[in-house]
Amino acid sequence: MADFAALFDRKRKLEAEPMPAGAKAPKRQSTEGQASPEPGKKKKKKKKNEHQPDAQHAGPRPKVTDASSSSAKGDRRQQRMAAQLAGASFRYINETLYTRPSEEAVELFRDEPRLYEAYHEGFRLQAARWPQRPVQLIAEWLKATQPRTSVVADLGCGDAELAASVPQRVHSFDLVACNERVTACDIAHVPLGAQTVHVAVFCLALMGSNFVDFLGEAHRLLKPHGILKIAEVSSRITDAEGWDRLLHALGFDEVARDSSNTHFVLFDYVKSDRPSASLPAVALKPCVYKKR
Ligand code: SAH
Repeated sequence: MADFAALFDRKRKLEAEPMPAGAKAPKRQSTEGQASPEPGKKKKKKKKNEHQPDAQHAGPRPKVTDASSSSAKGDRRQQRMAAQLAGASFRYINETLYTRPSEEAVELFRDEPRLYEAYHEGFRLQAARWPQRPVQLIAEWLKATQPRTSVVADLGCGDAELAASVPQRVHSFDLVACNERVTACDIAHVPLGAQTVHVAVFCLALMGSNFVDFLGEAHRLLKPHGILKIAEVSSRITDAEGWDRLLHALGFDEVARDSSNTHFVLFDYVKSDRPSASLPAVALKPCVYKKR
């Protein structure tokens, strides 16, 4: 479980700084400054003894302490509170990742590595509700269409599910190395040489406000005519024309687009011979989750 005091300290620090245009400020935690441990819940009226059918006849009831049921209640309450806190911290970290430059995400997890666990737990819960997860489609695509000798960079890999699912060599990068397959780095600066990979993958990973740096880095890593595979949440691409112009200006040619999924779009690009041009300013909408 994360150290939430440290989390809220950092939250306050971030709130004191200006947010990028159009970004939503993180919401205040509803539990802050409240005396009740269960905000929003009405207090139930306690039943008095005299309303109980046998109370008048049997005299005062001996006080029976049902240790097992009261501890079960306590457990349930603790679980509920833990789930609320985990949900709040997931939403806060998620929003930070989407609305701030990636160097702040690096700092956030460097100072509080346990927040990463909280984030990933939340991500897994969200992703489990999707009818299909894009990482599975990308794994199928790699297995079915790419040679086993291809070298892949999975940028923003999470727990490196892709590397575990395909026969190709996959270099897996994320802000925190949550297992031995992952190399920790900011994907704006990947510790691999230029033109070393055949395929670069961003699966739901264009999160920082400087996501264009990530795309530029993929261009550097890819061999000539290498493939850039992107899966992104459909609702984030509000400026589709701007998105196309940006990818073209970065030096990528679109070869396939699959919008058939309800939650995300899959793009395939090929690194072109054309030098990159001056880049249009394009934003992706942060994918923030509402409090349930
Ligand atoms: N690709 C994985 C995980 C998606 S969640 C999958 O589809 O299952 C998005 C991931 O991108 C998170 O693990 C997050 O930590 C990572 N990420 C976001 N910004 C990053 C950055 N600047 N550098 C490295 N990883 C980043």
